[in-house]
Amino acid sequence: MMKDVGFIGWRGIVGSVLLKRMVKKKDFNSINVIFFTTSQCGKIIPFSIKNKCKILQDAYNIEILSSLDIIISCQGSEYTEKMYSKLRSIGWNGYWIDASSYLRSFKKSVIVLDPINLNFIKKKIDMGIKTFVGGNCTVSLMLMALGGLFKNNLIEWLFVSTYQAASGAGSSFMKELLLQMKFISKKLNFKNHSLSILDIEKNISKNIKNSDFPKKYFSVPLAGSLIPWIDKKVCNGQTKEEWKGQFETNKILNTKKIIPIDGVCVRIGTLRSHSQSFTIKLKQNLSLNNIKNIIQSNNKWVKVISNNMDDTINNLTPVAVNGKLDIPIGRIKKLNIDKNCFSAFSVGDQLLWGAAEPLRRMLKLLINY
Ligand code: NAP
Repeated sequence: MMKDVGFIGWRGIVGSVLLKRMVKKKDFNSINVIFFTTSQCGKIIPFSIKNKCKILQDAYNIEILSSLDIIISCQGSEYTEKMYSKLRSIGWNGYWIDASSYLRSFKKSVIVLDPINLNFIKKKIDMGIKTFVGGNCTVSLMLMALGGLFKNNLIEWLFVSTYQAASGAGSSFMKELLLQMKFISKKLNFKNHSLSILDIEKNISKNIKNSDFPKKYFSVPLAGSLIPWIDKKVCNGQTKEEWKGQFETNKILNTKKIIPIDGVCVRIGTLRSHSQSFTIKLKQNLSLNNIKNIIQSNNKWVKVISNNMDDTINNLTPVAVNGKLDIPIGRIKKLNIDKNCFSAFSVGDQLLWGAAEPLRRMLKLLINY
């Protein structure tokens, strides 16, 4: 019998990417799906999925939710915090699959990234675990890129600097970046030839400090700038986004001894896809060729990019990977600092491997299990 699956958060940026992937992979053919909303209950769903329920249901209706076999939520932590324990407390024993971070630190949850931890996921399903959560976007993308080194237990420690797109913060933030760009473009005056480029810059820099500059969500300009702070502050000076690096990586890999990971997470003015610059210390002095082979052979999505200008600027950028499952990794070189240290730079679509794709594959695994 087909499983009843509730889909919450399909309108958001992660949910809509998930929806498109599920349509493309014909995943809806093997489930009875019911779409929920927190804001448009009773309306007709604005897309067509053959033979499926057409009316949006109330995402806070415990009765309907508790009748489902599987709930997949891309709605966000606030929703999960409100509804997850309510459902569990009335004895609902279905599978909960989630994109948000709220459940990642729960003892009885598994962070899913099946190209990296499929056996662990299967073991946990067999043990009766019912809560499966997608990882933080940069963590999942980092593991997809460096999975071979982790699998062979070669990493002594890792430091990462991230360059995260506006869409990583959600629809409203992405839209605000575009409004900021529009605001700036309106101030451009290329027709006045007496203005030097520095006069134009001065005018823009002055105007983005004005009160009418759109910054309701980011609080500050992102267009023409960057924000070296993502999420709230936690202990020892880290942000929550930086804290997730070590915690989630080690939870996904189920490591016995913690692999130290730290970094600085930065929001930049790209629309989609996150980039990361790694400094990695290996446990041994491996040749660059060895390192590249280990990285390349881990999964079919990771692509080692040659360390030259042409390949790098054409293949190792957000523009090159937007909308793709590929995980290019390049700038692989030994560092002057230590013979066991090397650098690498990777890019990945955070809405695919960093969010929607692990959830889609988890749902498929449960359907076919
Ligand atoms: P989002 O775009 O803000 O969408 C979340 C919800 O906001 C939607 O389901 C929708 O709910 C509501 N919404 C309000 N105004 C909207 C608008 N103008 N357009 C679309 N939806 C609107 O959030 P998200 O980025 O998809 O993130 C969802 C969860 O995934 C979060 O917990 C996030 O941390 C996590 N995550 C995000 C990313 C990423 O790259 N964005 C990556 C990994 C994990 P209703 O239809 O019910 O109103």
